Formats: sequence, structure tokens, C-alpha cells
Amino acid sequence: MSVDTVIQQLQKRISEFETAVDVREVGTVVEVGDGIARISGLSEVRASEMLEFPGGTIGVALNLETEMVGAVLLGEFLHIKEGDTVKRTGKVLSIPVGDAFVGRVVNPLAQAVDGKGDIAAARHDVIEKIAPGVMTREPVSQPVQTGITAIDAMIPIGRGQRELIIGDRQTGKTAIAIDTIINQKGQDMICVYVAIGQKESKIARTVAKLQETGAMDYTIVVAAGASDPAPMLWLAPYAGVTLAEYFMDKGKDVLIVYDDLSKQASAYREMSLLLRRPPGREAYPGDVFYLHSRLLERACRRNKESGGGSITALPIIETQAGDISAYIPTNVISITDGQIFLDTDLFYKGVRPAVNVGTSVSRVGSAAQIKSMKKTAGKMKLQMAQYRELEAFAQFASDLDEATKQQLNRGVRLTELLKQPQYAPIPVAHQVASIYAAYNGFFDAIEPNDIAAAQKDMRAYLDSSHSALLEKMEQGWDDDIEAALKDAIENFLKTR
Ligand code: ATP
Ligand code: MG
Repeated sequence: MSVDTVIQQLQKRISEFETAVDVREVGTVVEVGDGIARISGLSEVRASEMLEFPGGTIGVALNLETEMVGAVLLGEFLHIKEGDTVKRTGKVLSIPVGDAFVGRVVNPLAQAVDGKGDIAAARHDVIEKIAPGVMTREPVSQPVQTGITAIDAMIPIGRGQRELIIGDRQTGKTAIAIDTIINQKGQDMICVYVAIGQKESKIARTVAKLQETGAMDYTIVVAAGASDPAPMLWLAPYAGVTLAEYFMDKGKDVLIVYDDLSKQASAYREMSLLLRRPPGREAYPGDVFYLHSRLLERACRRNKESGGGSITALPIIETQAGDISAYIPTNVISITDGQIFLDTDLFYKGVRPAVNVGTSVSRVGSAAQIKSMKKTAGKMKLQMAQYRELEAFAQFASDLDEATKQQLNRGVRLTELLKQPQYAPIPVAHQVASIYAAYNGFFDAIEPNDIAAAQKDMRAYLDSSHSALLEKMEQGWDDDIEAALKDAIENFLKTR
């Protein structure tokens, strides 16, 4: 072989040489504990990138420092030790989404936890998305009927709205959200219930209730229980809204409940302190406002050109001794379009749902209220507020004039009317009928503790003999409908 051929062959071999080495960066765990890992050697890693730890555990890179990356671990982490290798995945944190998720209970990584097997994914979506811009949105125009008279009449919620449910512990916050989900049956709504930091037994009870009422047919439950690590609690709402967006993208209306964001904020505080981020007010990290604003901004009503669809959000916040001026409550109040304020005193007085009419508002929902309700309930909120004032004052007055007495009488009856047990949603036309009756004095002769029974009887009466009228009331409101309703109420009272 001549020198030339050798050189040629060598050149050929060199040109064929492939440089296909694994370019994936690998790092080393330097420190691990409390669900947090510090890793060296991942200089190229991106924020929120998923990292793969031994045993398939997934972590998320959150703190990108010069020498070190701070990551939170999602799932099992007790087996991870110093010196373990960590691989980059090149993917930003994402979860599977798809139609098959409806009716299922999943963890914040969208893995099934209901023992019914794997869920077929349509695609994978990143959990942090930029909220739809202004030009793709439109004002709310369609109602979300909660089936709870006090709310539908006085604090109406529209599709695409963000309405906060706020109150101390054990004041019926969850009850309102669950009743609203149950009432969406047949309303062409997909519901997502995100349970954050609740006892596992409580979550199981809620799921059982949803199943029993048939609500699981259109509901997804995302659960991060009290015993789950903090990063899972932090992640749960984002996973929930990512699933919700999948359905909004298909033009559907979605209702999402975050129960509750106080626990998510504490989980985020815990994570941030472990990641050694500087603590701010109430030891929360400086970006805790952004934690909730970027989540709630994703709720919106999309216009036709952008495919329609909406996400209505009902975030829940727990207060301490009714203090709505604490850090997290004020933040979330400022982000949402109104709040339903639940009051411990009312709850123990037996006014349930314990909605405080004076401090509760819905800033955009009345645009979505159906016409008959708007006309009937329009003045009720003011009257209820006046009644509360009078009630306090009347305790000291011995003889009252007729007009005041009458106002007190009506107030008592309206208050009775607005009491409602759990899991018993009332169709909107029936809500209108009973408010109309009470407001216009038809119930004045009925004893207050008989109001609930009268309301129930009237509902049965109207259902059996005036179903056409009820349907008309759902569609609109005019003098004819009003006259027919008046007649129907008078006839009903004669039957009693
Ligand atoms: P927590 O702070 O523990 O999350 P919460 O504010 O979510 O509590 P719920 O769990 O919804 O409150 O309700 C507290 C209790 O009050 C429950 O036992 C529930 O059954 C009861 N309750 C809630 N709403 C009503 C209602 N409208 N009528 C009767 N009981 C109710
Ligand atoms: Mg609750």
C-alpha cells in the first residue's frame, strides 16, 4: 500500500467520524433535603426545566445561580443522595391533557390516582402559559348558575369571571364551590376541582359526593393532599388550569375551583424559604402576588374569533378571624372580579350559606344575569342591607311605625328564603318565583320558620302546573309574564 492510499483512507475515515456524543448535560446533587436539591454542573439549564433524578423522580429547576441550580422534587425523594447524577430533559414542566381526563382524579402531574388505570393523553402542555391577551377576550355575558339563591340573586357570576370565595375556616366555602359544580349538570360546562392541602379523607368524601350526584361525568379533580410535599401543592392550581385550557381551546366553557389558594401560598413560602429566597412580608417571597395573578389571569371569556370558550375561576381563600386585610387576602381580592364573603357569626346564627351581603360583590356578573332575575332581585341587595341596619336598631325601639314593621317582616322572610341546605341547588326560574313572592309581600302572612316549607311547596306546585311559565321566565321577563307569575303565586297560596 502506498503512502498516498494510506492518507486517502485515513482522510476518508476522518470524514466519516461522527461527533454524535450525548450533548445532554448532566449534573451532580450537592445537597438534598426537604424536597429541595442543589445541583452543580447544569450551567445551561432553563428556568422551570424538568430534571430527571435517579429512580425517575422529576424535579423542576427554580433557582438558577452562577455555580448552582436549586430544584424542587416532585414525588418520591427519600432515595436521592448527595453525588447522584441529574439529567436535563430540555423540556419545560408540562403535563398530559386530553378528553379522557374528564371523570378522573389526578395528582398535580396529571397522573391518575383513582386506581382506574392510565389516562390517554391528547398532548402535553406546559403548565405556565401566558394568559390570553386583551384583543382575544370579550366581556362576560352568560351566567354561571350556582343554584344558590343568595348568590345568583345578589352576587351573580358570569362565565369567564373570577369570583373569590373568602371566609374563616368552617364557614361553608367548599360547600358553595361543590354545590356550584353539582348545579352544572346539563349546562354544557366542564368543571375542574383543585384540592390543595386538604386532608386526604376530606378529598375522598368530596369525590364520593361528586360521584353520587353524577357531577363526576363532567368534572376533573386535581388533588394535592395535606401529606403531599409542598411543591405538589404549589403546582396543583397550574396543573388544573392547564387542563381547563385544553377544553377552553376547544371552545368549551370551563369552571375551575381552587380550594384553597391560602394553602398554595403557604406551600410556596415553604419552598421559597428552603430555596433560600429572601422572605418579605409575612415571610412570603416577594413574588407571591405574581404567583396568584398569573394563575387567575388565565381565566377569561374568549371572543368568537379566538374560538370562544371560557374559564370561570372560583378561588378560595381562608381568613383568620375575618381579617381580609392580611397579605394574601388583599392580594387575591385585588386580582379577582369580586368576592363572596362568608361570615362566622352568620354561620353560627344558622344563616347558611353564611354570605355577608354587605361585604360581598360581583363587579361584572350582573351583565350576565338573566333578565327575570335582574328585574326581580335588582333592589333586593339594598333592601337586605337596610334590613340589617333596621334589625340592629329595632332591638332598642319599643313601638315601631307600620312601614318599619313591614320592612322588618319582609327582611326576616327574605333572610329565611335565602337559607339553603347543601347539595340542594334551586333552578333559576324557581329562585325568581320565590324572591318575587317574598319581595312583593305574598309571604308576609307565612310564619318565618314556615318559609322553607312554603318555598318547597310552591316549587312543586309550579313544576306540576306551570312549567311553561317557568320556561318563559328563563327566557325573558315582561308584564305578561309578571302577571302570570302573580296569578300562579296567588293560586298557590289558596291551595295552602
Ligand atoms: P374548611 O375551612 O375546613 O375548608 P369550609 O369553609 O370549606 O371549611 P365547609 O367544609 O364547606 O366549610 O363547611 C363546613 C361545615 O358546614 C360542613 O360540615 C358542612 O356540611 C356545613 N355546611 C356548609 N354549608 C352548609 C349549608 N348551606 N347548610 C348546612 N350546612 C352547611
Ligand atoms: Mg373547605
